[in-house]
Formats: sequence, structure tokens, C-alpha cells
Amino acid sequence: MCAPGHSHSFDPASAGGLASTAAAVGPKADADLINDLVTANHILYGEGIVDAFGHVSARHDKRPDRFLLARNMAPATVEAEDILEFDLDGAPVDAQGRSVYLERFIHAEIYRARPDVMGIVHSHSMSVVPFSLVPSFPFRAVTHMGSFIGTCAPIFDLRDVVGDDNDLLITNGMQGKALAKVLGDLNVVLMRGHGSTAVGSSLREAVFRAVYTEQNARVLSDAARLGGPITSLSEGETRTATRVIGGTASRAWNLWALQAQGDMEG
Ligand code: MN
Repeated sequence: MCAPGHSHSFDPASAGGLASTAAAVGPKADADLINDLVTANHILYGEGIVDAFGHVSARHDKRPDRFLLARNMAPATVEAEDILEFDLDGAPVDAQGRSVYLERFIHAEIYRARPDVMGIVHSHSMSVVPFSLVPSFPFRAVTHMGSFIGTCAPIFDLRDVVGDDNDLLITNGMQGKALAKVLGDLNVVLMRGHGSTAVGSSLREAVFRAVYTEQNARVLSDAARLGGPITSLSEGETRTATRVIGGTASRAWNLWALQAQGDMEG
């Protein structure tokens, strides 16, 4: 179990947050950012982080109170014209009748709570999910590339928020706020029996972190099978390595983008 501080308790009564009607259309997001978001969708599919489900968003470059996210579709097939704009209540700005992801409130409420976050990936990547089920075995950084995970990733359980009769999905602002609260100022939050969400100070960093959250989970599971005590990164190592490795996200991005492009064409 994580040390106190990663509270799972949440008071729905204090959350509020009915979805507002769509706001007026504003300045268009930068075309390069939209193209990067398309590429991010393809990379995450190519790296096995998303399948038919899961989604990635970027904060709007001109309107910090908005974010960009594809319409409701499989990430591998996303193109620039599929990218929609949302406000921080999760309301699409100009969806033109297109359907949107049920779980857009994950993105909306994390962007609201965390001004430092510029990109978010929500996925069901399979190696991470077991750690959401066993709180007594903390999910923590055991590899230098996974250092951003820290010494204990918090687990969000929707049951703590709305009780037993829930669908495990984040489908409104109140639930999104509860998830953002459990994430706190960390980079990864596990979602019990569902998946995980990774954030970054850029879209590319969020993608990088989603990929290495999965890899760290595989290494940690493999180490656990070896049977002995597991040596994790110390708190100091997680901080220092996160700082050093943060600068390399673009190197990974460039390679993955090339691979994703080849996969799409091939
Ligand atoms: Mn989900």
C-alpha cells in the first residue's frame, strides 16, 4: 500500500460540475500540434498501449482552458479532421454531430487541476492493470526509463466515489475530479480493474510516459516472478532520473513516429 498522502477518499458532494453547453469557437490550435496529436494516436497503437480503446489529448496551445482530443474512434485510424476541441467541462466546442469519448472527463478535469500538464494518455495497457488490483504490491519505478512513476503510483477506485453500482468508467466531471485528486501532483495514476492515465509537461512526454509505464510494469512483474526482494528506485533516483530522461522524450518520439508511419503505409 502507498504511504499516506495518496488519499483515496473523496467527497462527491463538494465536487459539483455539470457539463456546460459548448462555448464559442475561438482561435484554432496550431496545425503542428494537431498533427502531433494524430501521430501520438498512431504511435500509441504501434507501441501496443492502446487498441480499439484508449485516448490521448493535448492542451490547446492558445487557449489553456481547452484541450484537443479525437472524436470517438479507434486511435489507429485518427486523422487531423477527427481532432475536436473541448472545454474543461468536457463539452465539445464544435463537434458538428460527431460522437465523443465517454471518458473525456479524465482529460478535462486533469487539465483543470494541473496547469503544468500539457498532454494526457488514458489506456488499458495490459501489463499495468494487475497492479491496480493488488494495493499491497505497490506499482513503482524499477527502471530508469520508468523513473517518472515514482516510488508508489496511486490507485483510483471508482467504487470509493460512487459505490458498488458503477461501470468503472469516468463519465462525468465529478468522477474526473475524483481521479485528478488521486493523481495529485504525480505523473501516473492506476485505475482499478480498468487501466491507467499518464500525464506530461508536453504531448510527447505524455506519450513517452505511457509507453514506459507499460514497460516498467512488465519488468516489475518479471522481477516479482524471480521471487526475491525487489530493489526499486529510491525517491532520489526517481527525481534525478526523471529530470535527466525527460529531455530525451523527443528522441523516442522521432523513432516511434517513423515506425508508426511505416505501419500505416505498410
Ligand atoms: Mn478507459
